[in-house]
Amino acid sequence: MPYIQFLGAAGTVTGSKHLINTASDASGKQGFQVLIDCGLFQGQKEWRERNWRDTPVPAREIEAVLLTHAHLDHCGWIPRLVKEGFGGPIYATQPTIELCSVVLPDSGHLQEEDAAFYNKKKLSKHDPALPLYTLEEAEDCLKYFKPVALGESTQLSPDLAFRFVRAAHILGSCMAEVTLKTNGSTRRLLFTGDLGRVRDSQIAPGKVVHSSPQEGESADVLIMESTYGNREHPSTDPRPELAQLIRETAQRGGSVIVPAFAVERTQKFLFILKRLMETGQIPRLPVFCDSPMAIKAVDIFLKHSEEYTPQAADLIAKYGSPLGWAGFTFALTPAQSKEINENKYPSIIVSSSGMATGGRILHHLALRLPDPKNLVIFIGFQAPGTRGSIIKSGAPEVKIYGEFVPIRAQIAALEQFSDHADPPEMLEWLRTFTNKPGVTYLVHGEPSASSQLRERLKKELGWNVEVASYMERVEVK
Ligand SMILES: [Zn+2]
Repeated sequence: MPYIQFLGAAGTVTGSKHLINTASDASGKQGFQVLIDCGLFQGQKEWRERNWRDTPVPAREIEAVLLTHAHLDHCGWIPRLVKEGFGGPIYATQPTIELCSVVLPDSGHLQEEDAAFYNKKKLSKHDPALPLYTLEEAEDCLKYFKPVALGESTQLSPDLAFRFVRAAHILGSCMAEVTLKTNGSTRRLLFTGDLGRVRDSQIAPGKVVHSSPQEGESADVLIMESTYGNREHPSTDPRPELAQLIRETAQRGGSVIVPAFAVERTQKFLFILKRLMETGQIPRLPVFCDSPMAIKAVDIFLKHSEEYTPQAADLIAKYGSPLGWAGFTFALTPAQSKEINENKYPSIIVSSSGMATGGRILHHLALRLPDPKNLVIFIGFQAPGTRGSIIKSGAPEVKIYGEFVPIRAQIAALEQFSDHADPPEMLEWLRTFTNKPGVTYLVHGEPSASSQLRERLKKELGWNVEVASYMERVEVK
């Protein structure tokens, strides 16, 4: 019997990896094996340590990877998979491939930097500490990527085919519809990857990529994300609050620090800042975008205007590329990044990583967190155990570069910028299904989020819903 095995993003929101094995015998040996997503575990050490474990099946026996989008928790383990012997095609949409060509080498670079730091400070119990993969290894794996257009069907084996459809989460994001022939019948498996907002709206403003995941789906087995399974997005427009927070910080002579994912969230936030400045809602403070990856991603976004919301298209038509906006500085080199520290006047610094797990945001936080004049705004999900979640939780101090930094700056969080559907939106989307899936497995959620969503879907739709567990195998009947 074919099966799916959840190798990640089960019991947590990171490390997305779902294995399909078309095996007809219990050993699984003769099966054709495909991995849906190949993400990095982030956050709590208990999960991060799993990045160092081999896949339960030899990597070389996996025939292909279907990649839903370019966030690291979905693609960041690909270089390691290749390092372990995988040599098959990695199917993804063209924008996803372009974004991966920026995101993966950057991740390799961060892995190397971390290892070097641990070696210098002798902080690791491993001697020497090694990177999970290097920048060069990340660049090398790009040759396995193969572009597939949305809606185009690809036959991977006599029994297995797939098609990507719109997930509306970030640029290039898609869901994977997999068709599997087993014992003379055909089964449809739908992997949502991350599911975007269901509609463009004032409460989720500034979205660069337009909303609405593909409607009218059907599936025998649905594998759905549940990041926001137990939380509804606030129903207010966040812009007035954001503008007020920025104005107050500027008035007291402080700066605004915004940890933001380099892909999508940074571009979206820059668009919002520009709009707030142009409409006089915030002063024209200098804006520093301190993430080489975000800068490269801007260029990729500009190439794919077919995915824009009308709002984003309008903004670009009016003001041109963000890279040319007056008062917006894009720091490419480490020296330019450090120069931002010299700036003693109120400014806005947008930098990554979004959960403050690494990257240039760390030196900005280390410098600015101790001063109560400053403001740190979180505009994205903070996985438990990350520095971002520690700072957001109101902790008095946080460890950065091996030292404790006191947290005296004002801390704020705006949840409306999420690129994930919340439960009412998920229900709205699921109600467009043309059938009731035989079973739905919830993945990519903290245990409480997944279990609460499970109860809600069972109650409101009457569906058969299970929460996937890490390493669990489920048969495709
Ligand atoms: Zn994502």
